[in-house]
Amino acid sequence: MANLPLNFSHAPIKISSLTIKASSNGVPFSKPKSGGLVILDIPLDKIRRPLMRTRANDPQKVKDLMDSISQIGLQEPIDVLEVEGVYYGFSGCHRFEAHQRLGLPTIRCKIRRGTKETLRHHMR
Ligand code: ADP
Repeated sequence: MANLPLNFSHAPIKISSLTIKASSNGVPFSKPKSGGLVILDIPLDKIRRPLMRTRANDPQKVKDLMDSISQIGLQEPIDVLEVEGVYYGFSGCHRFEAHQRLGLPTIRCKIRRGTKETLRHHMR
């Protein structure tokens, strides 16, 4: 029997209670419902990183990630919080910097929606 390639790149994948969608242009197919999880590629300059200047990245880790990402791509999206249409990144710092240094325009993100209160919690 022939093996047919499966392409899920534009198909929503429903896993348990989470609906995961992929998009290549940074525009979600629909707004994530509260508590839902959406995966999409977001331009680096659309992600605010409020704690960026308070934590230094390990330059060797960044370099290793640059090598790996340029060879096999990003294997694990970074976590991003969306509050009132604005994206905030608090983790995935090395992957983010690796993308910046590679000159990549977008980064694949796992987006969780939150409130201003969620944001305040992350800023503490
Ligand atoms: P970060 O600050 O980005 O979380 P870490 O060094 O703590 O950096 O972790 C690197 C993460 O990057 C790991 O979770 C690893 O699974 C993930 N990752 C995603 N894509 C790659 C890749 N191409 N090569 C190596 N690690 C990758």
